[in-house]
Amino acid sequence: MQTYDLIIIGAGAAGLLGAGTAAEHGLKVLLIEKMEKPARKIRISGKGRCNITNTKHHDDFLAHVYPDSKFLNSALRNFSNLKTIEFFNSLGLKTITERGERVFPESGKAWDVAECLVKWAKKSGAEIICNTKVKSLNIANDKISSVNADSGDNEKIIAAKYFMIATGGISYPLTGSTGDGYNFAKQAGHTITDLQPSLVPLKIKNHNVQLNKLQLKNISFSLYVDGNYVGDEFGEAEFNQTGITGSIILRLSRKAVGAATAKKNVELKLDLKPALTCEQLKNRIEREMYAVTTNYALLSKLLPKQIIATFAEKANIKLQNRITDTDSGKIIKTLKNITFEISGFNGFDEAIVTAGGISLKEIDSKTMKSKIISNLYFAGEVLDIDADTGGYNLQIAFSTARLAAQSIARQLLRIEKG
Ligand SMILES: Cc1cc2nc3c(=O)[nH]c(=O)nc-3n(C[C@H](O)[C@H](O)[C@H](O)COP(=O)(O)OP(=O)(O)OC[C@H]3O[C@@H](n4cnc5c(N)ncnc54)[C@H](O)[C@@H]3O)c2cc1C
Repeated sequence: MQTYDLIIIGAGAAGLLGAGTAAEHGLKVLLIEKMEKPARKIRISGKGRCNITNTKHHDDFLAHVYPDSKFLNSALRNFSNLKTIEFFNSLGLKTITERGERVFPESGKAWDVAECLVKWAKKSGAEIICNTKVKSLNIANDKISSVNADSGDNEKIIAAKYFMIATGGISYPLTGSTGDGYNFAKQAGHTITDLQPSLVPLKIKNHNVQLNKLQLKNISFSLYVDGNYVGDEFGEAEFNQTGITGSIILRLSRKAVGAATAKKNVELKLDLKPALTCEQLKNRIEREMYAVTTNYALLSKLLPKQIIATFAEKANIKLQNRITDTDSGKIIKTLKNITFEISGFNGFDEAIVTAGGISLKEIDSKTMKSKIISNLYFAGEVLDIDADTGGYNLQIAFSTARLAAQSIARQLLRIEKG
């Protein structure tokens, strides 16, 4: 039976970075991927543009990481966002930094990021096999000896000295991330914390489907749980068939999902004119009133047509009526606050990441090594670690994988040197 130094399960962002790093250290590495191609998720990430990382300073970066950002401290220091940029640049992939310190490939193509990683991992000496699904681990005496892998026509046992689970979460399962790693971790004695979709669209109670596809720009949403303010976000949002999505909703979704799951009362309050105070809005409306007479004509000046009927309902005004002082007062109030009751959230199929995963308490954050099985390491989204949108999640995958691979290389060398 052929023996590898390291078998990595899952050729996503973490698996590829881990495989290339270990191979560069001279390890004989096998990277096993069950899909027909590596890195399917990277290829669709960032709306096809791949937001590789975020250039925020260490502490600001960690403020976007959950549930225990301290766990990422060593991994991020070891392979930081700036090192990630240098790394890709050194492979010939130029990058640009956009609003919100988000870093993208200059080509604008996520595909280029995936191909660049695959090429580098192979060039470094890692062997990559696709269409091969790891089904289980073989464990004896607190050590993994081999994996059982199924490549369709034949099942085989593949042995190695070290193993890294980099199978991702359970979101967007069509990309191959179907949660297999949680079963492997359980088999190894690890605990899996509650899994929840995160960075996910939210459902609105009694949603008005007339709003479907309406895009709102330069607006803000505030999140309230049981009547208490939790946070707000400014930017863009889009209504869909069942509720609302878009960058600011995704950013609020982690806390909204947690609260909705705990059966708390979750509300989103929409401010359609966050840049204007009530007083400024009053002045604006008074100016418009010289030119228009009905509520409808006034609202047409202030809002996209698609939202006017819903707005009138929420403001409790009749659109065909002449504008009165009372109605203009109601309009100002509603422009600053339309409350939507959140009835739930979309599933893992539409979640950008999985919140929850392998318990961090059972992993050494300085090495990514299992505290239960001596030759097992973890990297990427399979861990109970996730982050906001903005390039943080891929950086988590890169940093944890780099640290795991380097730790394995160090340990192997130590043992070989005696
Ligand atoms: C639509 C979308 C857009 C996103 N955009 C961004 C973005 O722009 N920036 C950002 O930072 N994050 C983004 N994310 C999140 C980010 O892509 C993930 O957090 C990251 O890819 C996780 O990397 P990973 O290597 O841990 O897991 P994955 O990328 O999920 O890779 C896991 C791999 O393991 C393989 N696998 C699973 N089980 C087995 C098995 N039994 N045997 C063999 N192989 C197996 C899978 O097929 C998969 O290829 C996005 C996510 C989605 C869904």
